[in-house]
Order: sequence, then C-alpha cells, then structure tokens
Amino acid sequence: MNQAVSKIERRLPALAVSHGIGIGRIVFLHCEKRHFFRLDLDAGQTGAELGRFRSAIDISILQLRELAANHELDPNQPVSDIFGVHLLILESSLVEKIETVIQNQRVNAEWAIRTVSDQYLERQEAVSDLNFRDKYLDIEDVANRLLTALGGSSATAQTDSDAVIVARDLSPSAIMELASSKPAAIITEHGGWTSHASIIARELNLPMVSGVRNLEHCVLIDDRVIVDGINGEVILNPSDETIMQFRDLAVPDENLSSSDGRIANGAVTDDGTNIVIRANIDQPAAYAAARRNGAQGIGLFRSESLIRRPGAIPTENEQYAAYCQIADAAGEAGVNIRTFDVGIDQLGGYAHSVECNPSLGLRAIRLSLSDQTHFRTQLRAIHRASFDRKIDIILPMISGVNEVLRAKAIIDEARAHLAKEGIDTGAPKLGAMIETPSAVFTAHEIAEHVDFLCLGTNDLVQYLLAVDRDNDAVAEWYQTLHPAVIRAIGDVLSAAQNAGIPVTVCGEMAGSPFYIPVLLGLGARELSMNVNSIQPIRQLLSGISVSDAIALVENIKTLVTAETIESHLREYYIENWSSLFQPELLSLRHR
Ligand code: PEP
Ligand code: MG
Repeated sequence: MNQAVSKIERRLPALAVSHGIGIGRIVFLHCEKRHFFRLDLDAGQTGAELGRFRSAIDISILQLRELAANHELDPNQPVSDIFGVHLLILESSLVEKIETVIQNQRVNAEWAIRTVSDQYLERQEAVSDLNFRDKYLDIEDVANRLLTALGGSSATAQTDSDAVIVARDLSPSAIMELASSKPAAIITEHGGWTSHASIIARELNLPMVSGVRNLEHCVLIDDRVIVDGINGEVILNPSDETIMQFRDLAVPDENLSSSDGRIANGAVTDDGTNIVIRANIDQPAAYAAARRNGAQGIGLFRSESLIRRPGAIPTENEQYAAYCQIADAAGEAGVNIRTFDVGIDQLGGYAHSVECNPSLGLRAIRLSLSDQTHFRTQLRAIHRASFDRKIDIILPMISGVNEVLRAKAIIDEARAHLAKEGIDTGAPKLGAMIETPSAVFTAHEIAEHVDFLCLGTNDLVQYLLAVDRDNDAVAEWYQTLHPAVIRAIGDVLSAAQNAGIPVTVCGEMAGSPFYIPVLLGLGARELSMNVNSIQPIRQLLSGISVSDAIALVENIKTLVTAETIESHLREYYIENWSSLFQPELLSLRHR
C-alpha cells in the first residue's frame, strides 16, 4: 500500500448496484476465495502473530502427513503424491516470505498468507506450460489449509457501522456475514447489477457500487469515503462540505420499505387486475416483513444459500430442517425451492477442477443430473419437508425437455424410495426456470411437462445477449430492454398461457419499477422480488392500467434498440405517470 497517497478529494466512477448513500471509513476485505481483513499490528504484536502462524504450519503439516499416510494405504487413490507436494510447499520459501510480510509490514497472518500466495499465483498464471500452470491449485490449497488452521478470521468481528468494505468481489455468504455488523456501504472491483452479492445488498438495504479497480493503491485503511450507490460514484477523502451534502441523502427513505400497517395480498392495477406478488427470500425470518408488505408466499428460495462455503453441502437432515423452516415461515402461500444452482467449484474437493467458463459449465441442473448424489439427497429432504407443507420445486438452468424428463424421473424415484421406507411425503409441483435461449425456444414443449414456469430474467439477459452478468466491464451490454429480451419474455408468457400454466417472473427485472409496465404489458401476472421492492412495486401497479401497459408494449415492440426503447419508456412515464415514479429513478439509465 502506498503510504504517500494524497488526501485531496477524488471522485471515481462506479457502477451503482444497490441504492443508497454510505459514508464511512475504508476497511479492506481480502477476498480471493475467503474473506479476510488486513489488521495493522503494533511492533510488539508481531512476535505473537508469528507464533500463531507457526502453529498453523505445524497443524497443517500434521494433517498433510496423516492424509498422505491414509492415501498410501489405498492403492486406488492416485492422488497420494498431492499431499507430498503440499508438504514440500510448506517447507519452501513461501513460508519464509509470509513471515517476512508479517514482520516487516506488521500485518496479521491471514493477510500475509493471502498477499504472498497471490503473488505466487499471479506468477504461476503467467506461465505458459499448462502442467506448471496447474500448480497454482496446489498453492491455493495450501494457502487455504493454513487459513483454516489459523481458525479463519470472522469478517463480522472487525467491522463497525461506519465501515465501508472494499473487496475484489464478495460471495453471497460473505455479504450475509458482513451485513450482521451493518457496514455503511460496500465497494467491489467486480460484479454487475444482477450478481448475487448485488441482489443481496439490495435486499439488505446496503449501498453498494462495483467496478472500482485497485482502490488499495489510492487509499489507506481508515480513510474517509462516500459511496454513492444512486449515481454510481466513490468519493475518496471527501471534504467536510461534501460530507454535509451527502449526509442528507444518506437518510434511508422510510416510504420505500415500510408498509401502511395493514396486511395486503398482492397488488391490484388501476383497472382492477390482480397481480400475484411473491418474495425472493433465503432467510425464513425475512418473510414476516415481506408478508406485511403484501407478499403471497416465497416465489424463489435459492437453496444454494445453504451451502456456506465450497464443499459444505448440508446433510439430508440439515436440509430437511431448513426447508421446513422456510415453508413454515411462508405458511399456506408456500415456497418454491429451487434445487442447487451451483457450479462444480461449490461442491469442493480435490477431484473437481476449476472451469474456465463456469457459467457455461457443469452447473445447476446439469450438475444435478451428472453427479446425482447431492440432487437425490436434496430431493429426499424436500419431499420429506413437503409433507403437510406447501413446497414446490424449481429446476434451474433448464435448456430443454430432456432435462425436465430426467429430473422428473429422479424426483419420482426419490419419492418412491421414501414411501418404501414408510416416510411421509407431500406432492410438490414442478417448475422450470426459463433462463436460457434454448428454453425460450422450447418453452411450449417444456410447459407440457411442468406445472409452472419461472422466468429468470437475470440469467436470461446474460445468456440471450452473451454477456457475463458478473462482469461490470460489460455492464453496458447487459441490456434488459434489448428487443430480443422483450420478445423472449413475451414468447415465454404466451407459451405458458397456451399450456394453461402460470409463470412467475423472478429475476431482478420484476422488482424494478422502470420495467414493471413492460412486464405487465407483455402479460406477466405473477412477480417475485426482493422484500424491499414489494411496497414500491405494489404502489406503482395500483396506478397503471393493463390496457395502457399493453398499448405501451405494442409501441416499444416496433423499436429496434435498447436505447430507443429506454428513451420511449422514459418519455412516456414522464408524460403520463410522473407522479408514480421517483424523479431520480427516471433520470438514471435503465437498459
Ligand atoms: C435469474 O436468473 O433471474 C434468477 C432468478 O436466478 P439467479 O439470480 O439466482 O440466477
Ligand atoms: Mg438464474
């Protein structure tokens, strides 16, 4: 870190991914796979820290020797030499370098391990020989083993309410952990509007921006910073005057998240059409607020939220308890449990390699069908929990009928096994996520084999436009209003209507006021969204009529770019519905 960075006010452009203003002091969170703070130590503390680090090495060496010995006994295990390699790494100059960083930079062992291993990884990644390049996985493994032996470092313990967390990227579980200490805001290097971390930040009302690179070179820990999650800006070392200006904006808008005290059910448009409103929820406790705001059940429970770190797949009984809890919270209105929507990296273990292109890789339903162990365990837990509870199943990333049929057979088999064991089950309905182009084109056929569809617009935009939703560098190309997206949504809604089954729109589009008239005009009648969106969306829906929305959609269908569609919508809203939209919302970009 550069100690000579200047303290003059500087403004950096950023991508606003969670609305709000946060004012606070910089806290770095190291986040390659795990998340660690840098702690600056006093000169007298480094000795103890070195002692901690050496104990972690001793623990790791013991573990590796034991693992190597066990594997030697098993001739079927071709990986026994991996542990030998890892032992060698622990005897290499890596360890000395980590000790030097602890001593010279006076930082905690976790931070030193990540700093040094990252330098190794960077060098390793640049090597052209693939065999050597693969060795970075070993260094990563050893670094993770050391970090675990240190007992990890809880992110939450170190933050306070004026912390502005700076991280490269954040996993959903890390952001949940951070949220409990209520930081002022979050800044990440990577991530788009529909990245899971951004979705959770919005749910938690945590201002967040992404796309800010190399912040550690411009600021120091504890420097003052303002995060403008409305216009997309980071203000480093703001003057007192600037802080005063932003302080007024930082007060949360109570109207956005509070209900009027009466429990409502869904929404009704200006011309009397009922719109079902559900909540996207991962924490059972969050449903109470959703219900107060008018939610009619949980439209999307992302079950992978139960996987706290790679490889930590909950057991059948743990899942059963979690599904019972979420279903009990949702009550009669029920919950749609989406089966694990994870990539192979989340399953953990040595056997699983890192994919170059994970969003196109072995993930979601593909992973469930190719390695069925976890899928079958999950289905048993869901079936058991569905006895006397309203639980339905959603299959993620379906690309055609074949996957639905194969999954259905496994679902039926799991229920039959439970019946044979004398265990009671319910009869969950089956839904398919429509979020790939092939699923859009075969929506008519898929609809013949399921009870309902879910439109996953976050991924639909990603896959339809071939633009990585987690990459802020291509955020400009992530265009929710692209004519192809609008056409696809319209086609899926009519496919479901022809088949006589419901569709829930459950991507972030469903919770964004700017897009609501479009969804309504295209025929959407069920929306599932994050808790904080429910109240404003209900209010908006009550002010617009289906007939106006249909006419509006007919007009935008004639337009051929996202830019012209966006302008047309903005002009229409200003002219006809200006009282229904917050002025600031109409001045922002929505594509
Ligand atoms: C989606 O893709 O729109 C969706 C709802 O699921 P996720 O954001 O978890 O991919
Ligand atoms: Mg998705």
